[in-house]
Amino acid sequence: MLWNRQRETLPRERLAALQLERLHATLARQLASVAPIAERLRAAGVSSPEDVASLDDLTRLPFTRKTDLREHYPFGLFAVPREQVVRIHASSGTRGKPTVVGYTRNDLEVWSEVMARTLALAGVEPGMVVHNAYGYGLFTGGLGFHMGAERMGCTVVPISGGMTERQVLMLEDLGGQVLCCTPSYALNLAQTLAERGVGRDRLKLRVGMFGAEPWTDAMRDALERQLGIQALNVYGLSEIVGPGVSAECVEERRGAHVQEDHFLVEVIDPQSGQPCAPGVEGELVFTTLTKEALPMLRYRTGDLSSIDLAPCACGRTTARMARIRGRIDDMLIIRGVNLYPSEVERVLLSVGDVAPHYQLVVERPGAMDELTVLCESVSSVDLEDLQQRAELALQAATGLSMLVKVLAPGGVPRSEGKAVRVIDRRGLV
Ligand SMILES: [Zn+2]
Repeated sequence: MLWNRQRETLPRERLAALQLERLHATLARQLASVAPIAERLRAAGVSSPEDVASLDDLTRLPFTRKTDLREHYPFGLFAVPREQVVRIHASSGTRGKPTVVGYTRNDLEVWSEVMARTLALAGVEPGMVVHNAYGYGLFTGGLGFHMGAERMGCTVVPISGGMTERQVLMLEDLGGQVLCCTPSYALNLAQTLAERGVGRDRLKLRVGMFGAEPWTDAMRDALERQLGIQALNVYGLSEIVGPGVSAECVEERRGAHVQEDHFLVEVIDPQSGQPCAPGVEGELVFTTLTKEALPMLRYRTGDLSSIDLAPCACGRTTARMARIRGRIDDMLIIRGVNLYPSEVERVLLSVGDVAPHYQLVVERPGAMDELTVLCESVSSVDLEDLQQRAELALQAATGLSMLVKVLAPGGVPRSEGKAVRVIDRRGLV
C-alpha cells in the first residue's frame, strides 16, 4: 500500500520542481529568522532565495553540522518564536550537551504523515496491532512511531523500551503484529521469548520495523528466523525529523526510500565536500524542505551510504539510500586501519555459530592498539575452533589481527535501547 500515492510516485522532474519551490521557502525562513545561518548564506552570495536558481546551485550553500546545534544550544537555530514550538525532543548527548530539536504543530503533522508512509512501506495496514518498544521521552523513536501508527489507524501499544519480561507478556496477550524497536533490542526480546518457551505459534508477529542504529543483512536474517517476521530498515535522525526520513519497502527491501518531498538528500565526499555520483558511497546530507521550527540546510549526518535512483517494484519514484555502513565518528582507527563495527558484525555472523551479540574493546596496553571482539556462541560448539575461525575470517576481511573471545550465552551486555558496540579505552590510560 502507498500511503500517499500522489506524492510518493511523482515523476522526478516534477519532484525536483516541488523541491526547489520548497527549498526557496526554507531559505526565506532562515534568511529572515535564523541569524547565524543567514549570515553564512549571505557570505556565500545568497541574500534572497531566488539566488538559488536550480537544485544544482545547492552545492554553493553552506553545510550545517551537529556542532552548530551545540554552539547555539538550546534554541539558537529555531526559526519560530519558542511559543510556537509545541514539542521538544533531544538526542542522548553522549558527547557533551544534548542536541535539542523542536516542532511546530505543522511539523508534527508532517512527521505523522511521513511515519504513516513509513508503516505503509513495511506493509502495515490500518487495524493492525503495533507493539512500539522504542523509547518514549526525549528520544524521537517512541513518539515518532506512535504518531504514525495512530495516523494510519493502527492499535498502538505504547510499551516503550525495557522491562523485557512485561514486553513478552504483552506481546503474546495483546497479539502484537508489528514490532517497532532497535534491532539489538529485538534480539534481546527474541532470546527472552525463547527462554520463556513462547514459540512463534503463540505470537501474531508479522513485521519488524528496526532502526536507530546501523545493522546488517546478516542481522536481518537472524531476526527473521528467530521471530518469524519480515524485518525492515527504518532510518532517521532527530535533527531532520526523527524516524521517517527514509524506510525500506516490503516489495524490494533494497535501500530505503527517502521522503524526498520533505527531505532533500545528497551524498558527498566527507573530505572534499563535493557531491558523489549515484551509487558512490559518501556522507549523507539532508536539507529539510517543510520544517518550520528547526529548518536544516545541508545537515551533515556523519552516516555513510549511497543513493540509487533506479525504479522500484513498489512503484515509488523516490531515491533509495543503501543501508548505512557506519558513521564517520563510529569509525575506529586501529593501528592505522579504518574499521567500522558493522563490518565486524557482518563477518562474525557470516562465520556461523555466533549469536548476534557482540562488542569491540579497544585498548592500548603498550605502544600498539589491541582490539578484542567479545561475542557469544549460539549453542554447544567447540569454542576454541569457533574462536580460531572467527579470528581468521576477521583478519582476512579487515586486514587487522584481533583477539576473539567467545563468551557463554548472555555474556555480552544486552541493550534496552541503542546497543553499545564499542568500548574504547585508549584515551583512559
Ligand atoms: Zn520500493
